[in-house]
Amino acid sequence: MRKLGVLLGILAVLGAARAQDDGPAGSQQPIVLHAARLFEVEPGRIISPGEVLVVGDRIQAVGTSVEHPAGAKIIDLGDTTLMPGLIDAHVHLFLHPGRAEDLQTIEESVPERTIRATLNAKADLMAGFTSERDMGTEGAGPADTAVREAINAGLIPGPRLRISGMAISILGGHEDALGFNPAQHALGNADYANDTEQIIETIRQQHKDGSTFVKIYETGRDQMVPQGSAPCLGNPICAQLGIGEQAGDPEFWDFHTPYQYTEDELKAAVAEAARLDTNVGVHCQGEPAARFAVEAGVASIDHATQLSDGTMQLMKEKHIPAVPTFVVFQYFADHAPTPQAAAAEHAMLDYKIHEFKRQVAAGIPMAVGSDVGPFPHGTQAKEFELMVRYGMTPLAVLQADYLNDPRILTWQNEIGQLKAGYYADVIAVPGNPLKDITAVERVEFVMKGGVVYKAAAN
Ligand SMILES: [Zn+2]
Repeated sequence: MRKLGVLLGILAVLGAARAQDDGPAGSQQPIVLHAARLFEVEPGRIISPGEVLVVGDRIQAVGTSVEHPAGAKIIDLGDTTLMPGLIDAHVHLFLHPGRAEDLQTIEESVPERTIRATLNAKADLMAGFTSERDMGTEGAGPADTAVREAINAGLIPGPRLRISGMAISILGGHEDALGFNPAQHALGNADYANDTEQIIETIRQQHKDGSTFVKIYETGRDQMVPQGSAPCLGNPICAQLGIGEQAGDPEFWDFHTPYQYTEDELKAAVAEAARLDTNVGVHCQGEPAARFAVEAGVASIDHATQLSDGTMQLMKEKHIPAVPTFVVFQYFADHAPTPQAAAAEHAMLDYKIHEFKRQVAAGIPMAVGSDVGPFPHGTQAKEFELMVRYGMTPLAVLQADYLNDPRILTWQNEIGQLKAGYYADVIAVPGNPLKDITAVERVEFVMKGGVVYKAAAN
């Protein structure tokens, strides 16, 4: 009982802070946003001018003109384009540039990393990202729960968050503190599970600790192999799936990455996540892991560097998007510590671009996620620019973000469009993003849930 009293006390304090910080939404004063243009996501067009009526945390009306209720606050955003808040399907609030990911776990305390995560959440929001899927704290356990709760309570600014706690990985697998003195028992960046039973137990523990979806490392470690060594040729699993034998595309198997979990193990994870009303996202660089993940029914294939023709066909049929995460690859290529490392990173990026063009040509669904964290938070809108540079139209990239990301984040019909009933997550950018996609890198105004976080300079 005493515990309950303390809890109620804390909730009362959080409630008071929220009422104070939410400002206009708390007061329920209607807001009318006006700008020279407005982007309509589904029809894929710009209307002019554009207006949005916001009441509380929701959009009430959208059009070239909307009702201006008595007492409404009018915000004129001038020569800008109103758009839904940006969505990033792959972030790491607990990572920062300048120190290797495994060393952040070993050298920085969880409280230190949590403080940084709150600053990163603010930086992302101010850059226009009003919703994000955090793909793992990378060694900070379930500390993302505290960050999300503080944001939801209005204590700190940040995006709406789907969180995973830590990624799940196999012993000795991706991000398992490899290469350190074994006697140090260095902490790894994932929760470990080696079979179906352990996967389910880990998911339940993470759920108890506050996670809202499951992140699994499905491949690693990645290798670029010399021409002709073709690691998948002669491999019985590849043969069974009919991959590794594509005629006319010999470079396909220059890249090799082992799978971590079997298709059955991934199916068990997807089933357990579904029982908890959520889904599974995978770090998945190539085959045959991508096929396993798609067959199992994951929400998205993240990084998706290498996909076979058969896997791409299934992704179309099951509407499972790829999340290319170009910015992080570009950043590693541009910031490698040695010329040799730079050459390797550039080879990887070149291969990725080549494969992305095949994926775009195949017409697979895409979603937008940057993998921000290893590079500075708040700069990840560059992802839109790179997806356009490597083969998509600005409209296709924007629709990928606004229509496919909400499905992955399980916020369909709530985020990603300026429509009556949706969350009032609205940004304004200069110019026309359908003509110049880099407009999304210059967000001038940010509203989330009816609350203005960034006001235009004028
Ligand atoms: Zn990641």
